Amino acid sequence: MARIGPQEGPNGSRFSRLGTRHTPSRPLWICRVDAAPWPCAEARLWLTRTHRENPVALYVLLGAALAEAMTDLYRLDAYGAPEPRILFDRFLGWTPARRPT
Ligand SMILES: [Zn+2]
Repeated sequence: MARIGPQEGPNGSRFSRLGTRHTPSRPLWICRVDAAPWPCAEARLWLTRTHRENPVALYVLLGAALAEAMTDLYRLDAYGAPEPRILFDRFLGWTPARRPT
């Protein structure tokens, strides 16, 4: 599986290749533009807009980002890192609800 990380692009994120400057700065997972916890409000808007036709891809992308953020943040500070539930809400809790098919 591809990693989301500094090794993947000149700006430190594969998100930088996709058309927004609001990309995560690792290992802190804060926005490179506004320093808000990533995905910031602008990143959420951009992600929603660009995945409107394929929300499953959005969930996969954010799920991978969540797993990597947990690894990074717990590696930085195992006792001070956000609880998994908080990170789940931050990365996936805001996404549009999936409609039953
Ligand atoms: Zn931002």
